[in-house]
Amino acid sequence: MAKKIKCAFCSGSGMDPYDLLSPLSHCLVCSGTGHVEVEEPMKKCAFCGGTGRNPLGARVACIVCGGQGMNHCESGLICNQCKGTGKSSDGLPCTRCKGAGYK
Ligand SMILES: [Zn+2]
Ligand SMILES: [Zn+2]
Ligand SMILES: [Zn+2]
Repeated sequence: MAKKIKCAFCSGSGMDPYDLLSPLSHCLVCSGTGHVEVEEPMKKCAFCGGTGRNPLGARVACIVCGGQGMNHCESGLICNQCKGTGKSSDGLPCTRCKGAGYK
């Protein structure tokens, strides 16, 4: 079942948080609605800490959750490879959980 949550990338404003195209451009993650739908059960994205923003510095949406700030995860068990951080030692998404932090 999909649940409607506030878009993390734009904090629910529906506007592009980085003004990449213009200050009036819509958020690419939620198409300007301010909400996104994520399949339940869901957990906060470990890779971006739930911000929906790419922690690697680029002004783009998180590559793990796609900017939604949450990831669908079936078991909810912490990934034992990255210990729930979602990151590998090189700073890239954990290869096991793909950055979600959970199995
Ligand atoms: Zn948005
Ligand atoms: Zn994320
Ligand atoms: Zn992991």
